[in-house]
Amino acid sequence: MNITAQLCGLIIIGLLVGFYNRLRKVGTRSEIVFSWVLNMILFCDAMDILSIIGITYRAYLPDLLVNFICKLYIASLVWITCLGLNYSGVDIYHGRWPRRMAVLAQVFLSGITILIFALPIHIYQEGRIAYTYGPSTIVTYAGALGFILATTLFILRHWNAISPARRKVVLLWMGIWMAAALIQMLFPQILAVSFAAVVGCTIMFIELENPEASIDKSTGCFNVHSFWLYVQEQYQSGQAFALVVLTQQPEAKISVAAVVALLEKLPNARIFKNGGDEFFILWNNREEWKIPEIPGWDAIAVPDSRVVDGATQLSSLLQYAAVFRIQGETIVIDEKFAEEKRNRDSMEQELKAAMEEDRVEVFYQPIYSLQNQSFTSAEALVRIRRKDGSLIPPMQFVPIAESTGLIQQLGRLVLQKTCRFIRENDLLRQGIEYIEVNLSVKQCEDKQLAAECMEILDKERLDAGAINLEITETASVRSEQILLENMQLLIDCGMSFSLDDFGTGRSNLNYIMNMPVSIVKFDRSFTQAYFTNEKARAVLSGTIETIKNLGLKIVAEGVETEHELNGMGDAGVDYIQGYYFSKPLPAFDFLDFIREKNRVSGMV
Ligand code: C2E
Ligand code: CA
Ligand code: CA
Repeated sequence: MNITAQLCGLIIIGLLVGFYNRLRKVGTRSEIVFSWVLNMILFCDAMDILSIIGITYRAYLPDLLVNFICKLYIASLVWITCLGLNYSGVDIYHGRWPRRMAVLAQVFLSGITILIFALPIHIYQEGRIAYTYGPSTIVTYAGALGFILATTLFILRHWNAISPARRKVVLLWMGIWMAAALIQMLFPQILAVSFAAVVGCTIMFIELENPEASIDKSTGCFNVHSFWLYVQEQYQSGQAFALVVLTQQPEAKISVAAVVALLEKLPNARIFKNGGDEFFILWNNREEWKIPEIPGWDAIAVPDSRVVDGATQLSSLLQYAAVFRIQGETIVIDEKFAEEKRNRDSMEQELKAAMEEDRVEVFYQPIYSLQNQSFTSAEALVRIRRKDGSLIPPMQFVPIAESTGLIQQLGRLVLQKTCRFIRENDLLRQGIEYIEVNLSVKQCEDKQLAAECMEILDKERLDAGAINLEITETASVRSEQILLENMQLLIDCGMSFSLDDFGTGRSNLNYIMNMPVSIVKFDRSFTQAYFTNEKARAVLSGTIETIKNLGLKIVAEGVETEHELNGMGDAGVDYIQGYYFSKPLPAFDFLDFIREKNRVSGMV
């Protein structure tokens, strides 16, 4: 009997199966198919050995039994090659092969198996050499070859969709099989095929299926790579799940290790950990989800994964939720939340399209100078003109532009349109001294801000003095140094600045002293407060006095009535902006407005 190679193979594969079964696995399709491959190779090797024993002692055994064992062995070779094909497709189909392909493979496999058992098999044995031949063996070769070719073609056809490691390993395995089959066909006494299978799956294990690669080394949980792989497969196979993402807050006192210990007590939960201190807890049974109460660790919960259709969308939803996370609060991502995100995404698309298709419009709200008794400036306020002609107000898209980074482009566009508007209509000759343009916090943090503004002014051939940029307190706190540098560069060129939204934040007068602004704009709420209670009136009066002592001008925003106009005038503000005079107007209406009003007041 010559079963040395088979025995070696059996020992290796036996160890591998034992070892693999003991390791922690996420439960991905790749792991499941690989587990099948391992068990099938173990079976194949055992049958190989049994068949040789059977052949050797066939004088003492029924022919039917010996033939059956020989056929079980060769049939298992075909079954393994079929699993090879299945394994090569897990990156693409995650176990859900297209129906036609699955049916074709099943029919082919069943046909081959039936033929193997139906056709005669011949046994050759002389001394230590024993092998089988005849129609049944030929069908086996044909079946195995069919699957090997199909696998190779499949990999070549889906080259980019299959992970490079999987491509390499499966092709190598198929190569080893072909070589072994060729050797065995030419020299039937060398029984290399089942040993080749063992070599193949050992390579697969080392390169692809070593579950260590899906384990987070520091905690022993599954890692984030396996999380996304698993999630992707759940979506592809239509399995809903529940998810909780736990994130450590800076002041959390409970260590990562202690959290792992707590999480591991959760029944039927899969625990994943990513590099940053974040855990993903997944339940296949959605009824079982719950938020582990761990002080200092914040949670985002997704009770039903079907709020989105796939892993990529889930990832962007989680990122979106993380942006809005308030420390100590749990965010539950439900249908409403997902809907909000979808609206946001579609607004982002609308903004991009509007910028490309020149549907971004700048409206101008006149600002009245109490001293000059005419309109000496205006605020540029952006809108999107929908394709149907309706308008989208800035509050619906400016915050989105800020969080997606589109604000820089939008800001440049508004400035450029405003500059062109001033020059083309010669506004400076119509009593307008400058136009105020809003700067978002993100723009203020940009080192290129000054250079970009100057470039636009140059291109539009406009003096810097015709533009006044509105900054907010938030910008001055968040990026004081960069903002100051930008401001100084622009002031040197003749531009001026306003502090917008005064009265909404901390309204610390220190900021005004530190920031080289020439105008302070009172927010509507601050202006209104003046008329609602005595205390506010006292605060406002004091503030106005201080600001004026610093040599700055004041704009009162949100003035809607004559009463408010007079009140603000008496309080000592310099400029009035509000619906009392006009809402923000489209460019040409603004021109008409200025021409008419400033003419009446004798300006032009
Ligand atoms: P903001 O800078 O405080 O602009 C003043 C807002 O108050 C404008 O709203 C204006 O229409 C409104 N308003 C003016 N007078 C009155 C009044 O008497 N009563 C009432 N109820 N409201 C009045 P709008 O145009 O909807 O703009 C909202 C915000 O959007 C702006 O607040 C500003 O923060 C932002 N925004 C607008 N355009 C731009 C832009 O080009 N860039 C940036 N970064 N933000 C912009
Ligand atoms: Ca403003
Ligand atoms: Ca304002």
